[in-house]
Amino acid sequence: MSIPTDPAALGADPGPAVANLETIVSLAKRRGFVYPSSEIYGGINAVWDYGPLGVELKNNVKRAWWRAMVQDRDDIVGLDAGILMHPQVWVTSGHVGSFSDPLVECAACRRRFRLDELPGTGELTATDLRDETIVERLGLRCPVDEGKLSAPRRFNLMFKTYMGPVEEEAAIVYLRPETAQGSYVNFKNVQQSSRKKLPFGIAQIGKSFRNEISPGNFVFRMREFEQMEMQYFVRPGDPASAAFDEWLPKRMAWYARYGVTPSRLRFREHAPDELAHYAKKAVDVEYRFPFGWKELEGVHNRGDFDLGNHAKSSGENLEYFDPATEEHFIPWIVEAAAGADRAAFTFLIDSYREEQVRDETRVVLRLHPDLAPYKVAVLPLLKKRPEIVELCHRIKDDLRRDVMAVYDDTAAIGKLYRRQDEIGTPWCVTVDVESLEDGAVTVRDRDSMTQERIPVEGIRRAILDRMEAARQG
Ligand code: ATP
Repeated sequence: MSIPTDPAALGADPGPAVANLETIVSLAKRRGFVYPSSEIYGGINAVWDYGPLGVELKNNVKRAWWRAMVQDRDDIVGLDAGILMHPQVWVTSGHVGSFSDPLVECAACRRRFRLDELPGTGELTATDLRDETIVERLGLRCPVDEGKLSAPRRFNLMFKTYMGPVEEEAAIVYLRPETAQGSYVNFKNVQQSSRKKLPFGIAQIGKSFRNEISPGNFVFRMREFEQMEMQYFVRPGDPASAAFDEWLPKRMAWYARYGVTPSRLRFREHAPDELAHYAKKAVDVEYRFPFGWKELEGVHNRGDFDLGNHAKSSGENLEYFDPATEEHFIPWIVEAAAGADRAAFTFLIDSYREEQVRDETRVVLRLHPDLAPYKVAVLPLLKKRPEIVELCHRIKDDLRRDVMAVYDDTAAIGKLYRRQDEIGTPWCVTVDVESLEDGAVTVRDRDSMTQERIPVEGIRRAILDRMEAARQG
């Protein structure tokens, strides 16, 4: 597997897997992956609901991440911290002071935009984006009605609410904008209870909330979303740089391993003036979305910013004691911060194919079997024959002990195959009249469309072997 590491060396743009985002949005709605939230009331901007297939896909993405980050490792443990935290956490972390985006407002239509998402701002540096005269200097106008735009002001992205029955300043709490802080404030708890020695990591999956100024591009940028973040605690200095260099390619390889086309992945390092307040170094793993190269995941060297500040602010000693060297020190943190929704979206886009089969176009999601919502569909060739239907259910129930399997008899077999192709089901098992005599059924492979006759008793093993082969491959 070869992954380009230097954007400059990439050469030609690989182009998106799907030219028009609408193709994916409409498939997602039609087949039950993603619906607009509260749709019967006209929807609510930038919140999306996962339907029956979407919830399976997203759960599988989270499972694949957890497997790579926790299950397969001796040095990383899991955590599930609360969404609501002590408000001081967000003061100490720097989010109250500087977790903000530059916002401009049109004097005519009153619409608000994120400065760096206006047309003509693609090349601006982070310093430019903080420049109050930038709108005037570049002659930027409202992209909707050409109205005059205000100078940029900083807009804090944290959602606020009140804890308890009184809505007053002292009762303000925030909905977390990242899961990371839960891992930092629990550093000592986790380290002591799990007896981990440096280097070790804490992994978390959970909801985060950001009051994004200009959300959009379907589930790419939402106001309520799910993150998969791993914080790796290391000795200060060089060990942190070494951990960073190790994690970065590992994280990109994870996307490729689960099917993302390597040429549509690249790294992008943040310029010094673009670095977040906590970061010593930051590199994004980017994907070539239909709307351009965008961040999938960020790998950050956060130094001792987080534990150092939490120690000062809370008065707790958050130092680590190294028994080998008898040193006390604040560990540095290397973070791999990904989004579950963005990852699921990427797998959906990148697996989409329209293939010519004879005179027909077949739409197929070539999802990795570990990610596919259903692993197997069991289909009757003749639903009028009760013995065939009964055998289908027996096979399906047997498969269900290990994998998601479904039964479907609502159309003719050709159509049933197409439907399963379109939702990415890797294998279909078909029971026909002959099955009643020879005790064998047909297993059809989604990608090659080849068919193999397998004895009924061997089906479960055959599917599990194929799953294992896909995982190894
Ligand atoms: P962006 O530059 O796209 O706003 P970010 O740099 O603020 O992202 P991080 O704070 O590093 O993002 O968050 C880690 C990951 O969480 C991102 O790489 C992304 O996958 C996911 N994420 C962040 N914000 C959103 C959002 N509004 N909607 C969906 N996923 C998000």
